[in-house]
Amino acid sequence: MVEERESVVCLYCGQLRPWSRTHIIPRALGGDLTSRTNCQECNWRTGVLDQALAERAITSLSRVARTPKTGFTVALGGDAFFESPEGVVCELRVRNEMSPEVLPQVHARPSTDTGKTELATTAGTSDGLIALLDFVEEAIESDTLRSLHIKSGPAKAGPDPRLVLHRPSVPAGFVRVQNPGDEELLFDALERGWHEVCRAHREQLEEGSLRGVAHERPRVDVTMSLSLDDEYRAVARIAFDYLASRIGSEPLRGDDFAPLRNYILGDVQHPPRNPRPGEVFYDPRFVRRLDTGGLRTDGHCILVCRVGPEVVGIVTLYSRSSFFVRLAKTQTNLDLPMAHEFSLDREGNRQLTIQEIAQLIDEGGLPPL
Ligand SMILES: [Zn+2]
Repeated sequence: MVEERESVVCLYCGQLRPWSRTHIIPRALGGDLTSRTNCQECNWRTGVLDQALAERAITSLSRVARTPKTGFTVALGGDAFFESPEGVVCELRVRNEMSPEVLPQVHARPSTDTGKTELATTAGTSDGLIALLDFVEEAIESDTLRSLHIKSGPAKAGPDPRLVLHRPSVPAGFVRVQNPGDEELLFDALERGWHEVCRAHREQLEEGSLRGVAHERPRVDVTMSLSLDDEYRAVARIAFDYLASRIGSEPLRGDDFAPLRNYILGDVQHPPRNPRPGEVFYDPRFVRRLDTGGLRTDGHCILVCRVGPEVVGIVTLYSRSSFFVRLAKTQTNLDLPMAHEFSLDREGNRQLTIQEIAQLIDEGGLPPL
């Protein structure tokens, strides 16, 4: 017999239903603080917001750069696109802000001068380049080059067939081609010319003259689709669920918090002004991104406090993405402020003392309403 879960009056729908665990900071961002204030159905509904925060938000770039790789693995959905409520498909290109690691790789490309195939190497570090030299040399000598795993497509991955190391320090790699069969061009060129490439690179490495020769760090473009509205609602969800985790859902089920609840669940879309083509619409009532200010933290941090009569939250993710959340216009009987800090590796979250909260707020103070 399956043991039935204890029921709770759900923070969002107000119904008595079996609870399901809510991660205050989404698991994909390293959250390890949970609450039992929400029912399963409402958790499912808000789960899509967490997904958007992890995959289709500006914040997710920080996640790529900052999430400890040893802690856990969650794939970033790179090809997702966002269709706004008005049917506008939004895409954004972000240029190399997070300096992703460049994997050591060698491309086969036709020379514009000679028409022959040339080999061009790329690596983020000289150690990575050395690993590439050794790996390909070994693969040619042991005749295992042609048994490497071959990945074909997509078109946006570029036309050059290339051999790529999985990581700069790991002697294992794969071949990327646009169309199956393109790899033969690469294999032939490697067998013919790799020895010479190796000799030249090793000489340059010895002389220290490698810089700018053949492996300049390329500019890396990350293309992703953003869903700002979902990102903002996800942040509102974090602040609201955090408050519920600290004081229980009962004080938060009243009318004061009804607009916020509806906003998070997406029940009421704020009537949009007419967005111009390509313009990203988001509901501006509850959440805004802070350009300056926020909380001093190395990881994630949530503060709920009062500004004037309003109950507000400040949510800082990955120490740099800060948001201001308006939780309720008036709610006088809450014991505020309260704050919590989270590490990025799911190992420890902690409640902050009043003294720590005072130190947490940036010199600029809290943003005005
Ligand atoms: Zn519910």
